[in-house]
Amino acid sequence: MAATETAQALDAAERVCAQRGVRLTSLRRRILEQILKTDGVIKAYDLIHDLSSRDRTIKPPTVYRSLAFLLDQGFIHRIESLNGFVACNHPGEAHETLLMICDACGRIDEMHPEHISKALDHAADEKGFAISSKVVELHGTCRGCRDADRAPRASL
Ligand SMILES: [Zn+2]
Ligand SMILES: [Zn+2]
Repeated sequence: MAATETAQALDAAERVCAQRGVRLTSLRRRILEQILKTDGVIKAYDLIHDLSSRDRTIKPPTVYRSLAFLLDQGFIHRIESLNGFVACNHPGEAHETLLMICDACGRIDEMHPEHISKALDHAADEKGFAISSKVVELHGTCRGCRDADRAPRASL
């Protein structure tokens, strides 16, 4: 994410926190900023390593608590299959998420197709299952990578 977009996303997060009466502490803000700046997924391990190498007082449990806060507030999503985190593209709203993860370049696209959400509700209903979160992770190859694959290669 570009610097201006990152700044805007941080401002938006500040506003949402103020509305909700919760605090975006400096560490929470720094973690969110790092996730926003990262293209694709950032793993908790890398995040902790990065933060603690610059500030030795930052310990893993504090980082995990901050990540839990950011998840609760809907500013980031956890990518279970990659054991990492990605910034949400419209934070602060409760939503179901379909994440398309490119295994070639790491790009992640977030979508919110309503009919899929309804289909999941219906399927869960039939089983008497109460859904607490709906995050569907799709792995594959993004358009950019597929186009690059199909493009005729320059002859050597
Ligand atoms: Zn989202
Ligand atoms: Zn790709």
